[in-house]
Amino acid sequence: MRGRLAFAAFLALAAPAAAQPAPGALVAPAQQPVNVGDAKFAAAVYHDSGAYQREIAVIAEKASAWIAERAPQVTRPALVLDIDETALSNWDIIKRDDFGRIIPGPCSLGQDGPCGWAAWDLLGVDPAIEPVREVFAKARALGVAVFFISGRPESQREATDRNLVAAGYGGYEKLYLPADGANFASLADYKMPIRTQIEAEGYAIIANMGDQPSDLFGGHGEKLFQLPNPFYRIP
Ligand SMILES: [Mg+2]
Repeated sequence: MRGRLAFAAFLALAAPAAAQPAPGALVAPAQQPVNVGDAKFAAAVYHDSGAYQREIAVIAEKASAWIAERAPQVTRPALVLDIDETALSNWDIIKRDDFGRIIPGPCSLGQDGPCGWAAWDLLGVDPAIEPVREVFAKARALGVAVFFISGRPESQREATDRNLVAAGYGGYEKLYLPADGANFASLADYKMPIRTQIEAEGYAIIANMGDQPSDLFGGHGEKLFQLPNPFYRIP
C-alpha cells in the first residue's frame, strides 16, 4: 500500500511536467471516457488509504443519530439495508478479480486467484462492514426491525443468511431476494416495490441504506444513506 501511495504521489508531482509534449506534437482523442486502468488505480488508492473506511464511518454515524432520534417517534420503525458493500464487504474478491465482476466460475479460498462471484457468495465468508454492523446493533437495541433487500438470487439464501449471522447481523426481521434468473433493467424495479410491501405491513421505514443509487431510488424511506462504492455498478 505504501508503495502504491508513494507511486501516486510521484505521479501527481512528476507526471504533469514530464507528460507535457511540445505544442502540436500530440494527436490525441478528444472524447474517450475515463481510462479503466486509471479508475482501478484511483479506487484502490481510495480503499487502501483508509478514505473509503472513513467515509463509511461518517455516513454510518449520521444514520445511527437519525435512527436514535426518529425510532421513538413512530410505530413499528424499520431500517432497510442492502447487503453487498453495505452490510458485508466483498473487498477480498474485488481485489482477487482486479475489479472484474464475473458471476460464473469456481472460487477456491486456498488459492490466491480470481473467483466467480456466485461461487464466492456461496462460501459465506464476507466480513461485516463494521460501522454498518454498529448501525444495525443500535437499531435493534431501539426495537427497530431490520429488513435486508439484496439483488443476490434466492438460491443464495442459506449461504447469505449464514454469512449475515456469522458477521454479527443475527436477529434481523426478513431477507428479501429475487427469484433465480429474474432480470431487472434496474434493481430499483425490484427493491422499491419490496419497500412498499414492508410499509403495507405497517412498518415505517425511517432509514434506507445502500451503496448503489438503485438501492435508494424510488422513495419509501424517510432518509437515505448512500455508502461509497467506486468498485462496481449495479444499475
Ligand atoms: Mg450493494
